[in-house]
Amino acid sequence: MKDRLEALAKHAREEITAAQDAERVEALRVKYLGRKGELSAALGGMGKLSPDERRALGEVANRVKAEVEQLLAAAVARVEDTRLEAELRGPKVDVTLPGRAQVLGKRHPVSRTLEDIVRVFSRMGFDVASGPELELDYFNFEALNIPKDHPARDMQDTFYVDASWLAAPPPSPVLLRTHTSPVQIRTMLGRRPPVRIVAPGRVYRRDSDLTHTPMFHQVEGLWVDKGVTFAELKGTLDAFVRAFFGEQTRTRFRPSFFPFTEPSAEVDISCVICRGKGCRVCKGGGWLEVLGAGMVHPNVFTAVGYDPAEVTGYAFGLGVERIAMLRFRIDDLRLMFENDVRMIEQL
Ligand SMILES: [Zn+2]
Repeated sequence: MKDRLEALAKHAREEITAAQDAERVEALRVKYLGRKGELSAALGGMGKLSPDERRALGEVANRVKAEVEQLLAAAVARVEDTRLEAELRGPKVDVTLPGRAQVLGKRHPVSRTLEDIVRVFSRMGFDVASGPELELDYFNFEALNIPKDHPARDMQDTFYVDASWLAAPPPSPVLLRTHTSPVQIRTMLGRRPPVRIVAPGRVYRRDSDLTHTPMFHQVEGLWVDKGVTFAELKGTLDAFVRAFFGEQTRTRFRPSFFPFTEPSAEVDISCVICRGKGCRVCKGGGWLEVLGAGMVHPNVFTAVGYDPAEVTGYAFGLGVERIAMLRFRIDDLRLMFENDVRMIEQL
């Protein structure tokens, strides 16, 4: 067997040094070192040898293998050099031609918008928090003061997920979160006030039409501490809107209702297209609704073990697609999800 290995090495030396192109070198690599190659074949009967014989033969085999690998590496470098030289000398390559432009990918408008929103709030001192997209009913609804029969649960047509097959079924139904608000609950359960976070992420609802898709993005904000006021909420959102849409953009708060905040407000901004004069986008009114906000409901504090007599806080949420559409002046939400590169490149 040792002789066979030495013969193999000699043969490989001759063939590999004579190889003229990359295909041939690759074919020789397979011939000698491949799984069904000559080296494997030469070692086929090793099992029948004594341990001492096997060790001795193994040493020879390793040496031969190392040599063949070295020869192949040298051959690869040699044929590549030859090829490049030939190309440079030959008429086929004009090195003075301008290069072909690479087509660069572009970041999606939703990703860019999401990051810009988070950046503005980070500068105001908000930490970034996250939570699971597959969520428990308890965190998505119940702890947020949305009880079982609450109409909000019909409003937010929810994707429920069958978890009954699990060995240990979860304590509450499983769903795709319908908003980023459960991150508020998870964060408050994990630490004591003060809490100042934004939670960006994907959320899911069952509707789909011109203005709704089953998956979209939200950024949730929460600030809890002793003595946080509604005036601070207004100041923070006003500062965000001016930083994001421009200094001249104004905000307007209208009373609203959410189960997890009291009082609650819808927040409008002066139309970024017509600057409040009235246009198609703002339907002539001069205002655009972009945010929901309010003071955290005492029941929510109780659910996470905070004392509502001791701390107050505000929360807000905004839809990222909505903001991206305003920023990039896109009027069909579905364009955001078709991933048409021509559309993305225009922005
Ligand atoms: Zn307008």
